[in-house]
Amino acid sequence: TSPDTPVPADAAAPFSFEIYPPRTAAGLPALYETIRVLADAGPRFISVTFGAGGSTTDRSLAVLTHILRETAVPPVAHLTCVGSTYADATAVIREFLDAGITRFLALRGDPPAGTAEEDIYLGDLESAAQLVQLIDRVQAECSPYREQEIPGVPGAARVQPASRVEIAVAAFPNGHPRSRHRFEDIDALLAKQAAGATSAITQLFFHADEYLAFVERARAAGVRIPIVPGIMPITSPARLRRVLELTGDPRPDDLGEALETATEAAAQRAVGIAHAADLARAVLDGGAPGIHLYAFNNHETVLAVLRAAGLIEQETLA
Ligand code: FAD
Repeated sequence: TSPDTPVPADAAAPFSFEIYPPRTAAGLPALYETIRVLADAGPRFISVTFGAGGSTTDRSLAVLTHILRETAVPPVAHLTCVGSTYADATAVIREFLDAGITRFLALRGDPPAGTAEEDIYLGDLESAAQLVQLIDRVQAECSPYREQEIPGVPGAARVQPASRVEIAVAAFPNGHPRSRHRFEDIDALLAKQAAGATSAITQLFFHADEYLAFVERARAAGVRIPIVPGIMPITSPARLRRVLELTGDPRPDDLGEALETATEAAAQRAVGIAHAADLARAVLDGGAPGIHLYAFNNHETVLAVLRAAGLIEQETLA
């Protein structure tokens, strides 16, 4: 085993990774090497982000088909609908289905940074829930049908798609930055479930009780789909600042101070890894159905988190 090769501690180890397509095709070979190492760790899936407005469609699809052909790990395609016509969104879904992609993360997506929503065309689909419905409808049209008996009605049969795609959606334990009230995010999640979503992945959060309390509120409101916590190793004060701009969360003082006290980059990285590993253990111990790690196209940090959390074996020293 090379020092880079992770050994899964358990074949069903409950983790997945998220990566993004490189800015240009020249970045693909380095990403494919990262994917090889991530895949060896045995994740449930690797998801690939999608630029809102379709800016990364070709590169996202290239990375997804690479994962499909070259690894045993199922790829999950993020898709956004902001700024898309109904026809364009349908065409992209068809293209991905034709390439063999059967798992999606359906998102609304944000308008380009610095653009006010009222100043641009937001598209025909108003929410992630509508994109869930569209993916479901397009796949049903593409899928071969089979006849199924109707229980209790002898001789009668109905046609059903032979397979269904899996559609995950986003959830926001600390609220979406544009939410108008604290129940809006639960209502949005209920709407996504009603539209056919099969699981949810959360925006990052900093403390386990934020996730656990959100799950409790969601369950009380009738959300039944699995809610997988998204965990981002925050390995520098600069990354923490960028993340807070994105999520609109207040600064977590414990993590912020620990990152600032550790002045060397290596020590800051160790703080971020330990924080993410503690978070992973706490949410799993609290009943989370797995963890989804934001990998930033770098395998070393997320694998260090998994080792520190005891989810993969320690490195074998060759
Ligand atoms: P929705 O579910 O439709 O909305 C989410 C919440 O925000 C709801 O509470 C809703 O009511 C509220 N809301 C939405 N819009 C408004 C508004 N205009 N005014 C008031 N409230 C509003 N983005 C990408 O571009 N590409 C990606 O690949 C990507 N991957 C992501 C993966 C994960 C796991 C997560 C958590 C987010 C990801 N995002 C990505 C970001 C996402 O597109 C944004 O957070 C977006 O603002 C909301 O998308 P949604 O699908 O949750 O939308």
